[in-house]
Amino acid sequence: MRAACGRVLLVAAFGLAGGAGLASPPWLAQGPLPTGMTAGGTGVTAIGDPAGFETWLQGFGPRAQAAGLSSWTLERALAGLRYNAGVIEKDRNQSEFVRPIWDYLDRAVSDQRIENGRAALHAHRRLLDRIEATYGVEREVVVAVWGLESSYGQNRGDIPVIEALATLAYDGRRGAFFEGELIDALKIVQAGDVVLRDFTGSWAGAMGHTQFIPSSYLAFAVDFDGDGRRDIWSDDPADALASTAAYLARSGWQTGRPWGMEVTLPAGFDYALSGERVEKDVAGWQALGVRRADGRALPDHGAGSVLLPAGARGAAFLVFANFHAIERYNAADAYVIAIGHLSDRLRGGGPIRAAWPREDRALSFAERQELQERLTRAGHDTGGVDGKMGPKTLAAVRAFQRAAGLVPDGYASFDLLERLR
Ligand code: CA
Repeated sequence: MRAACGRVLLVAAFGLAGGAGLASPPWLAQGPLPTGMTAGGTGVTAIGDPAGFETWLQGFGPRAQAAGLSSWTLERALAGLRYNAGVIEKDRNQSEFVRPIWDYLDRAVSDQRIENGRAALHAHRRLLDRIEATYGVEREVVVAVWGLESSYGQNRGDIPVIEALATLAYDGRRGAFFEGELIDALKIVQAGDVVLRDFTGSWAGAMGHTQFIPSSYLAFAVDFDGDGRRDIWSDDPADALASTAAYLARSGWQTGRPWGMEVTLPAGFDYALSGERVEKDVAGWQALGVRRADGRALPDHGAGSVLLPAGARGAAFLVFANFHAIERYNAADAYVIAIGHLSDRLRGGGPIRAAWPREDRALSFAERQELQERLTRAGHDTGGVDGKMGPKTLAAVRAFQRAAGLVPDGYASFDLLERLR
């Protein structure tokens, strides 16, 4: 879970679960999964008792006051608050949700999203000129975030933020995190940036054009149009887009540099060198035979890592410092690659050249746990059986692959699980 570390601040919104089009907030995931955009989940727990909500709310009041909220704010914002069972249902469903990266990218960087993004670049060109000049973040990247998070403002979410966060805070699964977000949401109300009627978002409290959660709003939102309010909710996207650029700038965005690029690896590439933990300068990768996907020499954008989000049989990317700036929004590799690739397409770049192993399917949460159990039994330490494909599990996968004479790309495929069975 990255949000507790202050890392994950935005939500990917693709209508993956149907309905409002806002789904699968990756900050609920337990870590990036190489097989795609999925909330790794902590396992499914029982749905909380709605009858206890009132009691919880009475206990919450004093804690909110201790955090600096006035009785006036609390009385207004919490009056008549309801438990929202639909929010909990969405929370439960997404914890089991698994989607391979190629499916994710097909939706995230669809022709429609590219076309709408180019239209948005044109329609808002003067605003984007000023945002780019102020924050040094290229317009295509800001617009790509907008496109992924809310389909360029079309799906900003219509669930009352206080109701959603109070329900999640009461429900218990990650309750402490959501209570913190609820308190931050109440601070937004108290500051007068939004009226309660307009204070809406997706089911997990992500708000506005670029789906900031309340803590990221308090930390990074800006009043770019100078009307005295940091307004990320209304139809005018100026404050929301500038806030997104401000967030990326504060996360170390390097102006004029790419997030990464698709590359090809030479025959005999040492797959132990893939993964974010290995960084080399461009000369080092060039010497190993890594080339741009179009065959040209690698441009020098500083140190980078080779990522293989679907293992040796899928596309390879060389990623640079700006990859990590986007990662501060959302640590899932699939999300960062989607933002980067959509921004490239908005700039006129072509599709990803390599094929994906589309015949594969992603492992379910239960299968990821089974994989960890079987790897552990085979003598490869996965650091526990939690269904999360963290660094220890990836290392265990590589060790098993090496011992079995397979390509050690760390890719936890269904075939690999079958081989362990
Ligand atoms: Ca404003």
